[in-house]
Amino acid sequence: MTTKTISPSQPLPQEEGASTKKLSIITYGCQMNVYDSERMAGVLRQGGYELTPDAGQADLVLMNTCSIREKAEQKFYSELGRLRRLKQQRPGMMIGVCGCIAQRARGEILERAPYVDLVFGTLNVSRVLDLVQQVETASEPVLEITDKVLDGDLGALPVQRDSRVTAFVSVMHGCNKRCSFCVVPNTRGPQVSRPMPIILDEIRGLADAGYREVTLVGQNVNAYGSDFRPHRSDFAALLEAVQEVAGIERIRFVTSHPLDFTQRLIDAMAGLDKVCEFLHLPFQAGADRILKLMRRGYTAEGYRDLIARIREAVPNLALSTDVIVGFPGETEEEFLETRRMLELVRFDAIYLFNYSERPGTVAPGLPDQVPLADKKRRFDGLLNMQKRISLAANLAYEGGTYEVLVEGPSKKDSAKLTGRTRTNKIINFPADPSCIGQLVPVRVTQAGLYALSGERESSRVEMPVIAGV
Ligand code: SF4
Repeated sequence: MTTKTISPSQPLPQEEGASTKKLSIITYGCQMNVYDSERMAGVLRQGGYELTPDAGQADLVLMNTCSIREKAEQKFYSELGRLRRLKQQRPGMMIGVCGCIAQRARGEILERAPYVDLVFGTLNVSRVLDLVQQVETASEPVLEITDKVLDGDLGALPVQRDSRVTAFVSVMHGCNKRCSFCVVPNTRGPQVSRPMPIILDEIRGLADAGYREVTLVGQNVNAYGSDFRPHRSDFAALLEAVQEVAGIERIRFVTSHPLDFTQRLIDAMAGLDKVCEFLHLPFQAGADRILKLMRRGYTAEGYRDLIARIREAVPNLALSTDVIVGFPGETEEEFLETRRMLELVRFDAIYLFNYSERPGTVAPGLPDQVPLADKKRRFDGLLNMQKRISLAANLAYEGGTYEVLVEGPSKKDSAKLTGRTRTNKIINFPADPSCIGQLVPVRVTQAGLYALSGERESSRVEMPVIAGV
């Protein structure tokens, strides 16, 4: 889970005559939310709202919430309390709440926090400017939640992106899976894929604006196009089409589901040179009984077989995954199966979560909820083991030279630039800012747990050999 305030790095044109007001968007959670925030900033820009990184200075603060973990909800409510105090000092400030908590809790938010001016759902992003304008003239808070994707949300909206080099592009809304722990099908609805011509137009526009890398985002991008009628499409077809966009040098995608990862998609990953050698593929748990209770639809062995096939086709693949510990009924032996999965597959990185109950899902009703102390112990054990695996994976890069897309100044050291390898490793190195947006060779001089350090080179690009199934 991340919290992010998007910054005003890339102004978009405003409507003529629009006066400037300050906008702050606080974003919780996944890439889908980051993308939605960038779209809301783009739409509001047309109404005269300029981004500020400081909520204390803003005329409008939007909280784009995440409800996937209990912790994210707690964080949201505590931040809302802080905004209340800001609003007491600046009564003209407007507070809006959107995203997954808004979609699920609806009017409850206004009951709990009557100082909130606007609540709208995950499917009302394209309406944000109209809604804000309604609040400006209304005497009461405005609430709008839709349960069906609006045409405006599938179409092309102005987007104010955080980066000038890499961009998220949504390819779908919602999810048709019903994992027993997951609130997403309730908060984002069933899967609705965006039409391919609209996605491609957006990506061509990005290429024209100088972007070099796109990340195609959705809750289960592998299922892209399966909802088109009468002619279904698939994600491999979308990758093939994006490969043809001149100016885009790299393609990434997130998130994938093992069940929808077809051989055709593996072949596309292997055959399309712009598709990067990186994959985020959640496995969630290593024991088959738990996977069944989670309604994931695959077994641990099936998952490992899939990874082996992908690695055979894409030998330098870097992998990350999601893992939940302490799912209801998980025994010590079943937890050890999860540990075994990490040992065998040797992921580059994992996103590890303690199971937490989500309202409206099936899992809270399952017997044998795991005590918090056991969850924490399992969590810490896995995390420590994974740190060793991740560091070893990064150390394999030392001494090699890799193609790096330079994204901008390093956040930790302003004398350095930062970028990513094709395998999604963050690398910091000293270089002239004129190379931002370029693909440059960088030799890795030192590997850390979360990032690499390096020096720019003029030639020679290698890939590391990664061990695992
Ligand atoms: S695939 Fe499962 S975990 Fe992922 S969004 Fe859909 S329901 Fe949630």
